[in-house]
Amino acid sequence: MRKQNTLYRFLLCLVLWLGLMGTAQAAELDGSWHYYEFTGEPFQGAPDFARQHMEEWPLFDIEIRPRFKPDTNRLLLAVKVNDNAPQKKILLFMTAKQAIRMWLGDEFLFSAGSFLPQKFDEGTQPYMLSLPEFSGEQVLVVELYANSAKDLGWFSMFSVDTEQVQMGRLFYSDIPLVLAAPVGIAIIFIMFIYYYFNPAGWKRLYGCITLFMVAFVLWIVCASNVKSLFWGWPMFWWYGLSILAYLLPITSNLVLVELLKGKKYARMKYVWGANVLLFVAAMMGEVAGLHTMNGFMPLFYLLLPLGEGAAIYWCILAAREGDVLCRAVLLPTGAFTLLGVFDGIAGHYHLLPWHMYLTPLGVYAFLYFVICILREQLRHEESLLHQTAGLEQKVAVMQLKSETDALTGCWNRNKLKDLLANAIAKARKKNNPFALLMMDIDYFKKINDGYGHDIGDAVLRAFATVVRQQMGKDKPCVRWGGEEFLVLINSGELAELQELAESIRRHVAATPMAGYKITCSIGIALWQNEKDTAAALFKRADSALYKAKNSGRNCVMVSE
Ligand code: GH3
Ligand code: MG
Ligand code: MG
Repeated sequence: MRKQNTLYRFLLCLVLWLGLMGTAQAAELDGSWHYYEFTGEPFQGAPDFARQHMEEWPLFDIEIRPRFKPDTNRLLLAVKVNDNAPQKKILLFMTAKQAIRMWLGDEFLFSAGSFLPQKFDEGTQPYMLSLPEFSGEQVLVVELYANSAKDLGWFSMFSVDTEQVQMGRLFYSDIPLVLAAPVGIAIIFIMFIYYYFNPAGWKRLYGCITLFMVAFVLWIVCASNVKSLFWGWPMFWWYGLSILAYLLPITSNLVLVELLKGKKYARMKYVWGANVLLFVAAMMGEVAGLHTMNGFMPLFYLLLPLGEGAAIYWCILAAREGDVLCRAVLLPTGAFTLLGVFDGIAGHYHLLPWHMYLTPLGVYAFLYFVICILREQLRHEESLLHQTAGLEQKVAVMQLKSETDALTGCWNRNKLKDLLANAIAKARKKNNPFALLMMDIDYFKKINDGYGHDIGDAVLRAFATVVRQQMGKDKPCVRWGGEEFLVLINSGELAELQELAESIRRHVAATPMAGYKITCSIGIALWQNEKDTAAALFKRADSALYKAKNSGRNCVMVSE
């Protein structure tokens, strides 16, 4: 192969990709190809022999190759080339599984592979070489060797043209790959981000899709023709391509395994397992030197439509049951399978005159599937948000209920804990004084006993209303138990507190409750200092109240 500046070729590719879309027809090699088939030892003096006898040989159609005798394993090809277009001197062709030697006139041009029985595993490889200067008409002689007649004589893109045009042709054979790779990379990024940041999604599904797309993009790199010009290593690319070809159905079926449920899921795992088994067997055989990587390809192409066909059937069943993602995955599964089988058959039977993979275009169908997933993910997130908001509201309502006294609407003991803890914290931190007012209705038992429990309840409600009116809305009023109420006041001014308590007491006495006159006694206790505690404060308030009761009731007392 002609050594060329890699950077130059790369830039040329870029230019071609950006603008030079319409390339000229390649120059026809002058005249027709002739061929001579034979078996056995390598040929000595092939160029001379070809020049002398080529006119007697049968014609060779390079695109529809003739059928050779079954034991033929060597071939001489000859075609005339003229110097009419000296600028067109780059020879481009792709071939696989055969050793090749080439002469222009007497001048040796190029050789690849050994002309002895050998393993041809390199896969299809493009060759680009520069014809030497010559004048008039010359005969291009190609000698080929393949292990069997069916591999002999296959070429694609055999042409002579300018380097630009030849690079263009090679590049266009990569177009499905070039179109597919960015989509694949974008999907990898999106799915990885969703995999990484989205605990509330189908994390495993995103992981599987990422894996599949990574295998897919790597496969694209291995399958590219242009890349073979920059980086030779045919064996490396061939092994990459083969291993990834086995990995593609494995990783894509992993996605299907994630999607299907129940029995279909269990069955899909068998399909996946069969893919894995085939891959492992092919690898082990290859390591043992049995060339199973290539040898199992017929099995691979048998399993592909069978396995994916079954998967499509299960997905249709699931889609009928309303599974949106199974419905969405039908398109890419079908597209990849059809294109994959087509590429396999086209490659094996040389159906296309050029070497091009169509499978990568299936990524557009896959993109549709990814978009459907993202849409479902959004819906999923929205419904979660809704649920969360509903739950939060419920929790708030429950909490309010659990802290409120059902009869009077005052806070209950549960809330008192919080209120008191807050007040104490403020008092300790910011030195905010506060006081506790403890109220108890006088002779309440008599009301219950005399007029009934319902009247007692009505009195309790009316009492709470009066207290709250006197307190103002922002000051919390707590029903401590039975007919005892507590109020927390943010003040350390005794006179102010006494006035407030007096006002409550007066209003209670002056307001008929459920039609009855009642009175109440009130005890006041002030928060004293940092060493004070809730229990001590309570005790003081209680004893002040006790004092009020003992002083004839309907009065206010302050603790010492
Ligand atoms: P004192 O002036 O000494 O406070 O006398 P009292 O009768 O008010 O004292 P006591 O604490 O003995 O009576 C409280 C009564 O309140 C006893 C109980 O039956 C009644 N009670 C407690 N909770 C409720 C309630 O929710 N509704 C009604 N109707 N009565 C209640
Ligand atoms: Mg009482
Ligand atoms: Mg009482």
